[in-house]
Amino acid sequence: MLYLDHNATTPLDPRVLEAMMPYLTEQYGNASSTHKFGLTAKDAVTRATQQLADLLNAQPNELVFTSGATESINLALKGVAEAYADRGHHIITVATEHKAVLDVCAYLETIGIAVTYLPVQPDGRLDPDVVEAAFTDQTILLAVMLANNETGVLQDLRPLAELAHAHEALLFTDATQAVGKIPVDVDALDVDLLALSAHKFYGPKGVGALYTRQRRGQRTKLTAQMHGGGHQRGFRSGTLNVPGIVGLGAAAHWAKTELDDNNQKLVSLRDTLEASLLEIPGSILNGHPTLRLPNITNISFPGLEADTWVAAQTEIMAATGSACTAAIIEPSHVLQAMGRSNEEAFGALRFGVSHTQTVEEIAQVAEAIMLSLQTLNLLANP
Ligand SMILES: *Cc1c(COP(=O)(O)O)cnc(C)c1O
Repeated sequence: MLYLDHNATTPLDPRVLEAMMPYLTEQYGNASSTHKFGLTAKDAVTRATQQLADLLNAQPNELVFTSGATESINLALKGVAEAYADRGHHIITVATEHKAVLDVCAYLETIGIAVTYLPVQPDGRLDPDVVEAAFTDQTILLAVMLANNETGVLQDLRPLAELAHAHEALLFTDATQAVGKIPVDVDALDVDLLALSAHKFYGPKGVGALYTRQRRGQRTKLTAQMHGGGHQRGFRSGTLNVPGIVGLGAAAHWAKTELDDNNQKLVSLRDTLEASLLEIPGSILNGHPTLRLPNITNISFPGLEADTWVAAQTEIMAATGSACTAAIIEPSHVLQAMGRSNEEAFGALRFGVSHTQTVEEIAQVAEAIMLSLQTLNLLANP
């Protein structure tokens, strides 16, 4: 079976596992201990922090390790809402964000924060004028994802950072899908906070990070959400997950080293698959055709029940709408926000390729997918 769901999670790169292994076995020290094992663990964390900082063009003291993007997002949104409570009570976000952002916003609404959910254009992109009009004198934070997890659509963060800063607000971005696939430079984007997760770019599950800008004159305030011991400069207490952090660092290192090569390969694999699937009459591409991640395609097939189809596949593993909401069969909130009908949303498949795959493999599964969709009579009913 071929795995085509690399936006849900990725396998561990064997080189990453190799880097982690010593810290899972002999080198089990607590990075807070002052003896030899502790110092070895601390050194490994220092190296990994630098590797992640290099990938993001950040400074090591601007990174906080967490259990993944969900925790990073919780820390960013709740931490900013609390730290800036005397400044304002309004957050702006987007209807197409991941549930990890939308659910935190829904929680913040229950404790008195006003949240504006911006609409997107049919291609999934934000209109900067719509963003600008949403600011009030109460706005403390603009939360906009860099790349969407269902469609791969990218947002231009730099102009949004300018807007946010002109209104004395911060810009947070959920960059979980973008990191490792496209260049992500916190200075070029001018973001104040950024969330990521290792398992989306060939690192281990259960470890991620939050970037918080701490340059001179630009210190982002953040109220800790996890108390107990004051680890990580008080931003996030708890014994450091040394093997996980080493894995995150190694994944960041390889992502940076191989980004350009992987990027080109992903585009050619994705385009091979996409070109075949778009031959099916009535199929429509969801999302902007070029301003998106290199590895993802999201296509609606008329009359398809995507959930049933995915579960019945024996040759490929793909995703419908969003894996995170798959327990409840609801049309994707992302596709709905882009103006797709319920039928189009229920008929959407998301494919995410990996640089470890070959054109032959992809061409072969494209054929299999075509045949399978054909037997559903889709081709006969354009
Ligand atoms: C996967 C993902 C998350 C959640 O990451 P976890 O590691 O599961 O916490 C958040 N946002 C986006 C865009 C994602 O793709």
